[in-house]
Amino acid sequence: MVIDQENNLKMTVMKNQTRNDNIVTNKKCCILFSILCIALNVSGEIKNGYEIELFNMQESLKNLTRIIKEKKDILPSTRRTIESKIELLISNITCYELTENLLSRFKIIAPDLYNEIDTIKDSKGRKVNVFVKFIPTDATEVKAWGITYMRQVENDEHAYLSEYGELTVSVKIWIVNNSLLVLAHELGHVKYQVPYLAHYFKYYKKNYFGMRNEPNNIGHNPNDPSGKSANLYEKLFRREYAHFSRSNEKIESPIALVEKIKKNLSSHKMFL
Ligand SMILES: [Zn+2]
Repeated sequence: MVIDQENNLKMTVMKNQTRNDNIVTNKKCCILFSILCIALNVSGEIKNGYEIELFNMQESLKNLTRIIKEKKDILPSTRRTIESKIELLISNITCYELTENLLSRFKIIAPDLYNEIDTIKDSKGRKVNVFVKFIPTDATEVKAWGITYMRQVENDEHAYLSEYGELTVSVKIWIVNNSLLVLAHELGHVKYQVPYLAHYFKYYKKNYFGMRNEPNNIGHNPNDPSGKSANLYEKLFRREYAHFSRSNEKIESPIALVEKIKKNLSSHKMFL
C-alpha cells in the first residue's frame, strides 16, 4: 500500500541552519556541500533502514549487558527496566540482520527487479535511496502487509522525502512468511512513484484523500498506475521465485529465520 506521510505521520525533518561569518568560509562550505551532495547522489540504492541506528544499538546492548552482569546490587525494578531495554535492542538488531538477509535473497532471486530499484532516479535524473525495514506485525499503527510512504520535498514536487531525508523513500514490510513477495509489491509502487511523483501525488490526493479505504486497498484503484506497477512486480517476482526454486533448496521462511537470528543474538549477549 501507499501512504501519504505528511497527512498520516508526524515526521521531523532536520533542517540544518548554518550561519557563515565570512565569504571564504561560505565558499568552502558550498564546495564541501556540493561534494557531499554529489557523493550522496552517486550512492542512490536500496539500503537497510536499520543501518544508521546499528552502531548505537550495538553499543547500548554491550553497555546494558555489562551493567546487568557486573552490578549485582541494583534494584529489582531497575534490573527489569534494563532487561526490557536489552530485549528491545535484541529485537531491533534481529530485524537489522533479517533485513540484510532478505535483501540479499531478493537480489539473488530477482536481480533485474532489484537492480531497477537500486538505480532508480526521479524525473529530474537524481538518484533516490530506498530504505527498507522488515518489521514485526505489531510495529505499525496502519495494518498493512507493506507500506511505501510518500511525501514531497517542500518547494520541489518532484523530489521524494522520507524520515531518511531528501531523495529517499521509506518502505516497511511485515515479517510474515511471504515477506519477499510483499517487498516485490512495494518496490513496484516505488518503481512508478519515484519518476512520476508530482503527477502521482495529485492523482493520490484526488482519489484517496478523505475516503474511507481498507489500508491494503490504498494505491489500488482499478486505474491506479502505482497499483498496476506493484501488481506487475509481484507477478514478475513470483515467476523469478518459481524459476529459482526449481534449481535451489527451499528457502527458509522469514519467521523461522527471525527466530534463529534472535536465538543466536540472545546466546551471544552472554559473551558481550
Ligand atoms: Zn499496494
